[in-house]
Amino acid sequence: MSLKSTNGNQNFINHFKIIKNLLPRHKRKAPPSLNDHIPFGAIPTNHMLICDYLPRKNGWQNPEILPYKPFSFSPNSVVFHYGQTIFEGLKAYRSECNEKEIFLFRPDKNAERMAKSAQRMGMEPFPEDMFVHCIKELVKIDKDWILPSPGALYIRPSMIALDKGVSYRASQDYRFFIILSPSKNYFTSETTISVYIERNLSRAAIGGAGEAKCGGNYASSLLPMKIAKDKGAEQVLWLDAKEHKYVEEAGAMNVMFVYKDKILTPALSGSILHGITRSSVIQIANKLNIPIEETKVDINQIILDAKSGKLTEMFACGTAAVISPVGCLLDGDEKIEINNGKIGDVSMLLKNELVGIQSGKLPDPFGWRQLIS
Ligand SMILES: *Cc1c(COP(=O)(O)O)cnc(C)c1O
Repeated sequence: MSLKSTNGNQNFINHFKIIKNLLPRHKRKAPPSLNDHIPFGAIPTNHMLICDYLPRKNGWQNPEILPYKPFSFSPNSVVFHYGQTIFEGLKAYRSECNEKEIFLFRPDKNAERMAKSAQRMGMEPFPEDMFVHCIKELVKIDKDWILPSPGALYIRPSMIALDKGVSYRASQDYRFFIILSPSKNYFTSETTISVYIERNLSRAAIGGAGEAKCGGNYASSLLPMKIAKDKGAEQVLWLDAKEHKYVEEAGAMNVMFVYKDKILTPALSGSILHGITRSSVIQIANKLNIPIEETKVDINQIILDAKSGKLTEMFACGTAAVISPVGCLLDGDEKIEINNGKIGDVSMLLKNELVGIQSGKLPDPFGWRQLIS
C-alpha cells in the first residue's frame, strides 16, 4: 500500500510494510574490527534501504531493504544538474553496559530536520515516523557493524531527485535512501584542531538555504575548505554573509566559546544549521548550571579575548566528531592560540557528559536514547 504524504506526517507506519530482500548469510561481508583502518563513512555495510516517492503511483512506495549496490541514473537526471539532494547524519550506539542493547540518539530530531530540509528544497518530505522506523529496521539487520564505544555506526539518510530531463524545475519523483558505515572517532587523535577564519567567502546567507542540510551548501564550501587546509587548518570558521563579522559555524559543525563564567554560541540566525549536538550541549550546560548564551558573536572580540586570555576555550560540535576542541584560530597569516593549543576542562566535561549519555554509560535524564533492540 502507498500513500501521498500530507503535513503532519504521523501514523504512516501503519500503512507501510518494509520489504526485505536480504543477502544470504554466507554472502555477507564481515564487519571490520576496531584495529582496522576505518576512514569515516567509507565502508558500506551489507544492506541499504530505499523508498521512492512516485506521485503517479499514489506517493510513497513500500520501503525496501536490499543488498548495498550502485544506483543507475540517466545523465540528464535532475539530480546531476540542479542539485536537489538533502541528507541527515546520526549514529547507532552499542551500550557500554549491555552489549546487546543498541540505541539511537534523538532520531526524531533528524526526522524533523530532514522534513524541513525537504520543504526548503521543494522536495517531498519523508514521513517522520517512517524515518525513525526505517532506520531501526535497517540497523537491526546490520547491527554487527556497530563498533563498540567510542565507535558507533554512522547512519546516512539521504533524499535525491529522480526525474529525468534537463529542463529547470523541481523533480516530481524522489528517492529516499539510508546507508550505514562503521565509525571510529572522526578526528583520530585526541588533540585540538585549528580553524581558518574565512573573511570573504560565505557558507550561507539569510534567505538562503543554510538551515537545510542540502548538498549545495557543502559543494560551495569545498573551495574555502581547501584554502583552509592549504593554510594548515582543519576547518573553516564561517562568518555571516552580510557584515563578515559574526561567527556562524566551523566547517559542518556548530561552535561554542567558553569564558570563565559563561559559554557563548551563535544564535540561530536563519543561516545556521540547527545542530542536534548543539541543542544537546545547551541542555547539558543548563543542567550543569553553566550559563550559556545564544547571541551574536563578533569575531574581532573573540580574537581580542583569545589574546588576552579571557576566552578560555573554544570547541566545535556535531554528530560525526561530537566535540572538537579548537586550539588555534588562523586569521590571514596570523595564528592566535586558545588555551595554549590544549584541550580545556569545560570542553572535556561537556564531551564526557554527552558521550556518556550516547554510549549508555551515564543515565539519560532527557530521554534522548531510543532503544532499537
Ligand atoms: C550537520 C551539520 C551540523 C551539526 O549538526 P548535528 O545535528 O549536531 O550533527 C552543523 N553544521 C552544519 C553545516 C551541518 O551540516
